[in-house]
Amino acid sequence: MTDSIPVRVRAEIAALPAYRQGKQAAGDAFKLSSNENPFDPLPHVVEALRRADALNRYPDATAGRLRERLAERFGVTADDVHVGAGSVSVIAQLLLAVAGPGDRVVYAWRSFEAYPSLVVVAGAEPVEVPLTADGRHDLPAMAAAIDDRTRAVIVCSPNNPTGTVVTQEEFDAFLAAVPRDVLVILDEAYAEFVTAPDAVDGLRELGIRSPNVVALRTFSKAYGLAGLRIGYGVGHHRVLDAARATAIPLSVTAQAEEAALASLDAEDELLARVRVIAERRDRIAAGLRESGWVVPEAQGNFVWLGLGAETAALAPAFDEAGLIVRVFAGDGVRISVGEEESVDKVLQIAASVVADLPEGHSARR
Ligand code: PMP
Repeated sequence: MTDSIPVRVRAEIAALPAYRQGKQAAGDAFKLSSNENPFDPLPHVVEALRRADALNRYPDATAGRLRERLAERFGVTADDVHVGAGSVSVIAQLLLAVAGPGDRVVYAWRSFEAYPSLVVVAGAEPVEVPLTADGRHDLPAMAAAIDDRTRAVIVCSPNNPTGTVVTQEEFDAFLAAVPRDVLVILDEAYAEFVTAPDAVDGLRELGIRSPNVVALRTFSKAYGLAGLRIGYGVGHHRVLDAARATAIPLSVTAQAEEAALASLDAEDELLARVRVIAERRDRIAAGLRESGWVVPEAQGNFVWLGLGAETAALAPAFDEAGLIVRVFAGDGVRISVGEEESVDKVLQIAASVVADLPEGHSARR
């Protein structure tokens, strides 16, 4: 068969690059390309999955038990919580709800690689605002990029892939500059790994926060349920009603909901693992800096090496050493914090890579 598209596809969709997942690791390689949690699921959580064994039945379309549980925790109503098949599907639903042809969505770049295509799929136009030289959101520039066609702004903290956070103060100042009818999506997929005390927390002070903000969290990262696909948004119930209206019905499975509830029961144990990962991250970042790297503030479960134009030449060294990392052509390499056994190898290969960086390169001290 020829490779041309046999039916008429929307031109902007045909032009989209296919979603590229982190490579699977072969043999004894470490998979450090998808910001996954390296720990095995807790037995208690696996047990919960077995309980949800009515595979011939549809799930509760509203994920009602989980929404109640989260609402109680955050002091909001269950209608102020919306559960999706991963937080990425909540982002997609929100964008479909607020932005269409002729509208614009502002976000920082580089950030989560799904944003551009989610905006285009909604029919809207992406407006990408460059990160600062140290990999942070330039919120004043993002606020300035908002015009009367802007329907949503996405703020990612910690930012994937650079790891930097937006501070609460910066976020509050930003909100004051954003028109009240523009949706602000605060993507906090990595929030649980944050140790910086001044970082924004979208779930703090929910009652007094602007009604145009939706904070997104996920069970994929800190809670280690990436394979089950479950995440959520917290915000004004009327905004979330609009997201619910665009959702593909019944995509959150009973197994995912059950495992998420069990994870909340086992939260102390899971958050102890999160602390181990955050400590490992700090050790990796410190080791990288010691060997001569300039590493942006790493607050997620990953570190960023801003190789820029040297990416194509130098990134393969990781792959060849059995470290599957995420390579962003022309920009750099993101390395997830994985198993303890991977740490020395990451530091060793990274030290040899930095030695090959030209003098004066921005990623080299
Ligand atoms: N937001 C960010 C910033 C992410 O990095 C990811 C996962 N790569 C997601 C959202 C989506 O996570 P999930 O759909 O698994 O909840």
